[in-house]
Amino acid sequence: MHLLLDEMLKKTAKWLRIFGIDTEFIEGKKDSELIDYATKNNLIFITKDEELANRCRKQKINYLLLKSEKIAEQLREIKSSLALEFKFPEQTRCPSCNESLKLVDKEKVSALVPENVLKSQEKFWLCEKCNKAYWQGSHWRNITKIYEGANKILSS
Ligand SMILES: [Zn+2]
Repeated sequence: MHLLLDEMLKKTAKWLRIFGIDTEFIEGKKDSELIDYATKNNLIFITKDEELANRCRKQKINYLLLKSEKIAEQLREIKSSLALEFKFPEQTRCPSCNESLKLVDKEKVSALVPENVLKSQEKFWLCEKCNKAYWQGSHWRNITKIYEGANKILSS
C-alpha cells in the first residue's frame, strides 16, 4: 500500500516512513496536480482538508480524511482505517526520502557517525539514497512513545 500525504501532514508523513510505511509527500503542488499524481500512481490520498477529500471522492480516488490534530492519533486513524501494520524497527524507511533503511555493520557507517556514537551504539541503519546513518540516539525514547501511541487500539 502506497500513500500520498498532503502538505499539511509533513510530520505525519515522516512518522509513517519511520514506521516502515511507503509514504509520498510532495510540497508546492496545486491540489489538482496532487490528485492527478495520486490517480496516475494509484496512491491513497491522505488529507485533513475536507474540500480536498470531497474532490477525491468526486474523482473516485481512494482517500482518507483525518480528524485528529495529534500525530499519534493521526497515525492510529491511518493504521486502523487502512488496516496497516507497523513493524518498527524491523521495517523502517528514511524520514527524508522514503527509501527503505538497512541495518548495517558499524564499519559501513564509521565515516558518517561521530566517534562517541560509534563507541556507544551497536545498531545502525543506513539510507543508501541520502547516505545518511541512523541510530538509537536521543530521539529514540520519543520514537518509542509515538510508536506505542500509534499502536493503541482505537476505543471508539
Ligand atoms: Zn534517505
